[in-house]
Amino acid sequence: MDLKLTEAQQKIQLQARAFACERVAPLAREMDELGTMPLSLIQELANTGFLGGPLPKEYGGGGWDAVSLALCYEELGRVDSSVRGTMTVHTSLVSQCILQWGNESQKREYLSQLARGEMIGCCCLTEPNAGSDAASMETTAARDGEDYVINGEKIWITNGGIAQLAMVFANADPSLKHKGICAFLVPTDTPGFRREKMPGKELGHRASDHAHIVFDNMRVPKSALLGAHGEGFKVAMSALDHGRLGVAAGALGVGQACLDACVEFAKTRRQFGQRIGNFEMIQSTLADMAADIDAARMLVYRAAWLKDQGVRATRETSIAKLFATEAAVRAANQAVLLHGGRGYSNEFPVERYYRDIKGLQIYEGTAHIQRIVIARELLGRE
Ligand SMILES: Cc1cc2nc3c(=O)[nH]c(=O)nc-3n(C[C@H](O)[C@H](O)[C@H](O)COP(=O)(O)OP(=O)(O)OC[C@H]3O[C@@H](n4cnc5c(N)ncnc54)[C@H](O)[C@@H]3O)c2cc1C
Repeated sequence: MDLKLTEAQQKIQLQARAFACERVAPLAREMDELGTMPLSLIQELANTGFLGGPLPKEYGGGGWDAVSLALCYEELGRVDSSVRGTMTVHTSLVSQCILQWGNESQKREYLSQLARGEMIGCCCLTEPNAGSDAASMETTAARDGEDYVINGEKIWITNGGIAQLAMVFANADPSLKHKGICAFLVPTDTPGFRREKMPGKELGHRASDHAHIVFDNMRVPKSALLGAHGEGFKVAMSALDHGRLGVAAGALGVGQACLDACVEFAKTRRQFGQRIGNFEMIQSTLADMAADIDAARMLVYRAAWLKDQGVRATRETSIAKLFATEAAVRAANQAVLLHGGRGYSNEFPVERYYRDIKGLQIYEGTAHIQRIVIARELLGRE
């Protein structure tokens, strides 16, 4: 693996860093307090070429490789997980899945609109009774002539309230278990598609849009199928494979942001007549954080690099997601402590990192589920 970034990758990294610092950072605290993100910011992500980054140029994309996309997520994650999360769902789960599974007509219809931000995408998998065990979903898709009629509900759907296009998973034959699941591309103005904000106030990702969606006799044509009938579970797993790399890279960004904030604070905060960075316990914390983040970076870049070589990287992606999220949880935990009382208030962003990072440990397969994926790759199935 070549650890040196190419010129093109460095350019994307710098562009993403500049966007994150200049356009996102000034809004991050207010967005978190208000619990919303301006649509104009998502449009800016599109205008800068980020939303379509990994799509081929013929579909309005930038033709980025996986390393470039990971760099972009890392930089956005360093500043704001809500913005990074919005983009990961839109770009990695929805657009990259359409690129992988869509027929030519679906790619032509949706990809350039998604790249230009004229459409926002969401991915509807989780249900009240089917989270980690996605195959047990209860949403049904009944065949009716040339149509399917979808009934059921989904929860925690990022971008669900603002999306124009939903990737929906439903079971057309529950007796076949996961082999009955189908994936559909559904415009959100389809009759029977109802959505509302998730109840309660979230711990983190407060600027992200999370919806509870109900499908009430929602009729969609056969042409809405993404992949073949019965291939929906494979589509869902590939969506998670794309998304997990984005979450791992975003977590790396959060960990790096915690370290940056702590180094700055340790140099400037003075107690007992000296900077707190002179105390060995603070130095030990910083050193552990730096080692964790370096290791996370290697794992994230390796997973992306393998993807770019066309190698199956399910195990490496799960390892990257597991390690990077848990390293960032440790970093955020220590960062709040190291900032003392200041870390306990949103006057300093480490308080937000501490809340946000728990989300990354849960979505797109919890840390437990990543361990299951890794162990299964080690042991095989019996
Ligand atoms: C901020 C946020 C954004 C999200 N965005 C989306 C989205 O856009 N689209 C979408 O479809 N979903 C989304 N989700 C949902 C998310 O993917 C699920 O919350 C997650 O998959 C876990 O499912 P669950 O909440 O039902 O927990 P459960 O599956 O009920 O798990 C509860 C606990 O049991 C553990 N557990 C479950 N099974 C096992 C096992 N076999 N072995 C050991 N432990 C196990 C879990 O790890 C967890 O700790 C989002 C969630 C959050 C918090």
